[in-house]
Amino acid sequence: MMRGGIDLGGTKIQVVVIDDDHQVHGQVRHPTPVEGGPQAVAEEMVAAVREAAEQAGVEPGSLKGIGVGSPGEIDEATGTVAEVGNVAGGWQQAFALGPALSHALGTDVRVDNDVRVGAQAEVQLGAGRDFQSMLAVWWGTGVGGSVVLDRTTWLGRDAAGEIGHTVIQHLGGRRCPCGRRGCLEAYSGRSAMENEARRRHRDGEKTKLFKLMRKHDKDRLTSGIWKRALDRDDALARSLLDEAVDALGAGIASAINLLDLEAVILGGGLGTKFGEPFARRIEQAMVPHLFVEDRRPQVRVAELGDLGGAIGASLLVDGH
Ligand SMILES: [Zn+2]
Repeated sequence: MMRGGIDLGGTKIQVVVIDDDHQVHGQVRHPTPVEGGPQAVAEEMVAAVREAAEQAGVEPGSLKGIGVGSPGEIDEATGTVAEVGNVAGGWQQAFALGPALSHALGTDVRVDNDVRVGAQAEVQLGAGRDFQSMLAVWWGTGVGGSVVLDRTTWLGRDAAGEIGHTVIQHLGGRRCPCGRRGCLEAYSGRSAMENEARRRHRDGEKTKLFKLMRKHDKDRLTSGIWKRALDRDDALARSLLDEAVDALGAGIASAINLLDLEAVILGGGLGTKFGEPFARRIEQAMVPHLFVEDRRPQVRVAELGDLGGAIGASLLVDGH
């Protein structure tokens, strides 16, 4: 019996069709439409699922179900999604994404938070499989998180895990995309780092970041652009990434002091792009802030790579 998983991102829609042993039989990636609103995004998702199902040799309607990992504000009960930033030229109003996909594809669709499902894939099938308790840190455009206690995701009242809005600078902190000041994400999120890079560049600091961005035909500083700038020893990129690592160290260590978790799983666009060397740097940056220094948590990089989000979404289908 096959099931589907969709990872809806700001730049790409990744789909997998997968069997009960979690073997991937179809995988398709489409760019996320930049205009046309949520309707256009839903149509693109439907087309991508049809292709992936064809690769796997099944009809979309015969899938046991489809899970979707989505950014924005999600109502899991109705499959409605609102307030998705940076997608399709505007997606603020609630859109019934789950029902739209279900109607077009003829099978059940469940929608949940993208970070939560990506983390769940790592917990069940990836870097977190050996641990009872862990914090997943999704370091990308923002800094998302998920707390797992006794192998169960702690949802709180549905908003748990927001490690990115841990306050690491409580006086005079940098402005966070959430509107508050001094959050971890204000120092470590890719979007906040880009704002800071633009500001410092305007103020006269030299950097190759924006030249690299144009050369590679991007309209924002992607994880790959940050990596390239760092590989060329760009001073501004290095300085901003040093600050990002320090902030992650402080924020994650505070969470560990509170919850005494066994492990930290580092994922997300920047987390996977920078991988093992940065996991070790973040681990070191945690040390001065850890209350129990001689029993540190393990810091592991997410293992499932680019398909992790879609595989995690497929786990939303009943029975997984
Ligand atoms: Zn914030």
